[in-house]
Amino acid sequence: MPVFDYAPAPESRDIVALRPGYGLFVDGAFTEPADGGTFKTVNPATEEVLAEVAEAGPADVDRAVAAARRAFDGVWGRMRPAERAKYLFRIARVLQERAREFAVLESLDNGKPIRESRDVDVPLAAAHFFYYAGWADKLRWAGFGGDPRPLGVAGQVIPWNFPLLMAAWKLAPALAAGNTCVLKPAETTPLSALLLAEVLQQVDLPPGVVNIVTGAGGTGRALVAHGGLDKVAFTGSTEVGKQIQRTLAGTRTKLTLELGGKAANIVFDDAPLDQAVEGIVNGIFFNQGHVCCAGSRLLVQESVAEPLLERLKQRLATLRLGDPLDKNTDIGAVNSAAQLERITELAASGDAEGAVRWQPECPLPDRGWWFPPTLFTGVSQSHRIAREEIFGPVLSVLTFRTPDEAVVKANNTPYGLSAGVWSEKGSRILWTAQRLRAGVVWANTFNRFDPASPFGGYKESGFGREGGRHGLEAYLDA
Ligand code: NDP
Repeated sequence: MPVFDYAPAPESRDIVALRPGYGLFVDGAFTEPADGGTFKTVNPATEEVLAEVAEAGPADVDRAVAAARRAFDGVWGRMRPAERAKYLFRIARVLQERAREFAVLESLDNGKPIRESRDVDVPLAAAHFFYYAGWADKLRWAGFGGDPRPLGVAGQVIPWNFPLLMAAWKLAPALAAGNTCVLKPAETTPLSALLLAEVLQQVDLPPGVVNIVTGAGGTGRALVAHGGLDKVAFTGSTEVGKQIQRTLAGTRTKLTLELGGKAANIVFDDAPLDQAVEGIVNGIFFNQGHVCCAGSRLLVQESVAEPLLERLKQRLATLRLGDPLDKNTDIGAVNSAAQLERITELAASGDAEGAVRWQPECPLPDRGWWFPPTLFTGVSQSHRIAREEIFGPVLSVLTFRTPDEAVVKANNTPYGLSAGVWSEKGSRILWTAQRLRAGVVWANTFNRFDPASPFGGYKESGFGREGGRHGLEAYLDA
């Protein structure tokens, strides 16, 4: 195979004007936290401190919820749906206009390759606002009764893996349905949500309709436990999701949870192997594997396992890991030292339990947090790397002989968020998809998202759907 020398093609970071410090976004303005607490947000590729960010305590959360309530009882609640839609369209258009700025900022704060923030995160975030803008004045035709009402004030807690996109997933349907919001971004990736706050000011969104309280887990806890919310929407780990469910049990606050996953990517012997290799790579190495629906378990039919793995290894050897702002980069930095530690520990358990680790030659930068693309063969279903969410660029390979065995193995997980099926036969794809307990099943592709398409899980992957018409239901009193 020819070896290419790639000249670096870094995106300039000058387009982003980072401020040394950021306040909380409450009632339409940036404000200081009541107790003056701050935390640092860091570039995971260099460990450079990017900014000091305000840490919201219970008093700040209270202020944000009160502002959201005033907006709901006042200007936003009284606004005609067609007017609400105009704000959402404006947000979508400004996101498109400022797309490069958002993409660079997201890659700086999160560590993901600019290719992904530029081509996936930011365009999809804008697409969600466009899509839900269209629903705002058509809710009575959404299939939830003739006069569906908003719930009120929504508290929304989001993770660090797709910071802007998760904010869009949460805010766009909530606002379209007529709710007001208090959003809590993840501690390690607050900056794109704060830039979004500037966009909300730019489009003159009325004060209090969206409030952004930055902070760590404690801020999230304070928000969820605040008695003034009508709705909580959470995306993150299953463990925290269960805690939230316990906190809200017995209250009238509605809840949706989008939690972890351990998706099976099933390759049958009649699958187009080169195409499957690309889908496997996209399934687990996209966004460093920090994806709840990542195809982290490859189930390959025994008769094609050898040629498939050979091609997969060749492909992995061509992946380029490094500077997230370089347009050639395929694999960026792991988002935090804590996440790197979790990935390292789980991968070590794979070695200890007898699986066979393979990694391409892949020099890692001296600074920052990195994990090379990794493949484990000889994995059995009892291994931790086959059962637990690694949330990193680590693929566990298992084999099967019959379609029935593939289905049983794929469903042998506490999760049920997504799955992939690779086969030339439509009938086999449908047969398999009908038997998989997964919210999303991709056929001959993986990790494809569209705002019109609902997304969500079974079992410990949570409940409720985001995206599409279904995503409105979570924010309507229907
Ligand atoms: P968490 O579930 O802890 O974080 C998700 C969000 O919840 C963050 O905004 C977090 O704040 C906040 N939070 C943390 N504790 C609480 C709480 N008690 N009440 C309310 N909100 C809270 O995930 P981690 O970031 O710790 O990642 C741990 C593991 O979770 C990962 O290794 C991965 O396996 C999984 N994960 C799954 C995701 C998914 O989409 N399915 C997304 C992220 C993680 P803060 O970030 O400030 O702590």
